[in-house]
Parts: sequence; C-alpha cells; structure tokens
Amino acid sequence: MEALKAKVKDIVESQRRQLIQLSLNIHDNPELGFQEEKASTWLTNYLEDNGFQIEKGIAGLPTAFRATYGQGSPRIALLAEYDALPKVGHGCGHNIIAASAVGAGVASKLAVDNFGGSVVVLGTPGEEVFGGKVDIVRADVFQGIDVAMIVHPNTRDMVTTQALACISLDVEFSGKPAHAAAQPHKGVNALEALILAFNSINSLRQHIKGEARIHGIITDGGEAPNIVPAHSAATFLIRAQDNDYLEELKDKVLNCFIGASLASGATLKYDWGNKTYDPMKNNLTLAQLFSENFELLGRHVKAFDPYFGFGSTDMGNVSQVVPSIHPTVAIASPEVLIHTPEFASAAASDAGHKGLLDAAKTMAMTVVDIFSQPEMLDKIKQEFYRD
Ligand SMILES: [Zn+2]
Ligand SMILES: [Zn+2]
Repeated sequence: MEALKAKVKDIVESQRRQLIQLSLNIHDNPELGFQEEKASTWLTNYLEDNGFQIEKGIAGLPTAFRATYGQGSPRIALLAEYDALPKVGHGCGHNIIAASAVGAGVASKLAVDNFGGSVVVLGTPGEEVFGGKVDIVRADVFQGIDVAMIVHPNTRDMVTTQALACISLDVEFSGKPAHAAAQPHKGVNALEALILAFNSINSLRQHIKGEARIHGIITDGGEAPNIVPAHSAATFLIRAQDNDYLEELKDKVLNCFIGASLASGATLKYDWGNKTYDPMKNNLTLAQLFSENFELLGRHVKAFDPYFGFGSTDMGNVSQVVPSIHPTVAIASPEVLIHTPEFASAAASDAGHKGLLDAAKTMAMTVVDIFSQPEMLDKIKQEFYRD
C-alpha cells in the first residue's frame, strides 16, 4: 500500500505542469455558474486524453460531466467545481477544486488497475448560486457510488467542514403610488412594508439559535423620492444547522413579511427557492484517512472548529446520499477572506499550485487506502448508515 501511495504521488508530480496550466486557464477565464463551457471542455479533454470515458451534459446540465475509468465497485467519485463569482472571478478558488479533482482522478487509475473497481470524476457546475449538485443528486447520478470527495481551497487545512442548511426567499410587496407630498394618504408604501419586515427579522434574530443566519438585500426600493413606492422586492437567505430547524425558521421569517403586509396594507408575494442546500454530513472515518495522508505531505490538520467556515454548499446534499468529505486546503494566510480579490490572487499563486497538487495527491492516496482495504469501505458505510 505504501509503495502504491508513493506511486500515485509521483503520478500527480508528473502531471504538475498540465494541472497548474489547467488551473490557471480556468482562473484566467472566469465563467459564472452554468456557463462554464471552457472549463468543462478543458477538463473533459484532459480526462479523455488520460483514458477516461466522458459523458457530457449529465443531469440536464450542459456544463456538467461524468468521466469514468474502470468498472463496478468500489466506485469512488472525485468532484470538480469550476464556476466563478461576478466581479471577483475565482475568489472562491474553484479552479483549484477542478484541477485537483482531475489530477486525483488520473493518479487513482493506478488503484483501479491494481484492484479493479472504478473512479469517477464528476464535473459539478454552478455551485455558488444554482446548487448544481442538487440537480445531480436528484438525477440519481450518485446511485452506485460508494464514496465522494472534494477539496476546497481555504486558509486552513481541515478535513471536516461545517456547512449549514440553506434556502433562498424572494419577496415582493405591491402598494399604491401617489404623490409623496401632495397626497401621501392616498398611497400604500411598499418600501415601508419591506423595512418593517427587515426590522421584524432583526427582532427575531435575538431569539434564534446561534449558528442560524438570516440575511437579505433590497433589490427594488422604489422609483423616485417624490413617489410613494408602489413596488418593493428583496432576496433573503435563511440558514440553519439542520433541516428541521430550517423549517421552523422559515415559518418565523415568513411571519415577519406577513405581519409587515398587514401593517402596511401592501400585498405580499413570495417564492421559496426550489433548492435547499442540505447541511454537510462529514464521514469521520473517511476524514481520518484523508487526514493521515494530508499529514504525510507535511500539512498540519487543524482540529474541528465549529466557528470556522459557516457557509453552505451543495456538497451537503451529496453528503446526505453518499459517504462524503469536503476538506479544505490552505492556500493563503488566515487574514485573507474568501470571496475577495485577495483570495482570487491566492488561487493563482505558488501556494495555490501547491494546494492543488497536495489536494490531488491526498485524494489519490485516500483512494488507494479504500481500494486496498475492503474493510475500510465497510467501516465508512457503517458510519454513514448508523448516523
Ligand atoms: Zn467555493
Ligand atoms: Zn464560494
């Protein structure tokens, strides 16, 4: 097993130039969610050149793909993300996720050649806003997959991720326009309705669980200061540690809008997002294997910190159907904030390149662990079904 692990590391090293080039190409050509045509083409070309069978457009998503090497079980999925953010490009470093997943895939062929089974690189587009993995889960793409792994760049080396359940809420108030000075009594103020709702939510915030989050923006606040706003609109995100509490919170938040509608006389229309991001269920057996391999590369894995990395990810949905991990690899110092231009620079730096190579090596070494010790997969599954 040790010899195989050394070999998969060598394979990743031998691909260093190509993987860094892929990462930089994606970084220099940022594409928003579901528009990642270049990234998806470059990644599938690379995998095809390395002997993978390619299926494009899976789950009805044109920029999603499945690349398979080998057949049958164990079947390990390595997930790639490659969408960028508006204005800050790869401020979330998904170029590194993509390059590390394909690098790990190519190195993992050695495990398949030695033990049988298969490795699948899944291209999962539109993570930031569209929850592409929710569609992929719904399309049953994870049927028959034993384990799923993805590594996200960040500012700490960690093997577990705390990610919250999350749903979006679009709201609109409709009132009645009037001259704001001459006949204000004839108007119904849709903006005031929205402000009331914001204030109610701020009051509610005192009495919600510590890890829950409610945050929103006003997307329409009226036309002119001398017209009573007849229309207002906002988008909110509501997050909680588990789906049950998310349901409870949804009712409470909606009541804030209903109350504001009654008080103001403006009519409310609302629309819950059709995709809920599930919380991340970390498979600790798998995380432990990953951690040991990460440390063999000289990485220092930080202990679980419940106050670090409170976001949401569509990998949460994958983790509810298949034993999964979503470790993070440090590519910048802790002061650098993710989703900023500084983090985007880190994603194309030497530390970023090292992060991508280490992530690829560690995933491939973990694949070797799973393929060479069948009892390990049993343990991983026992934990998954026990919880
Ligand atoms: Zn991200
Ligand atoms: Zn992000």
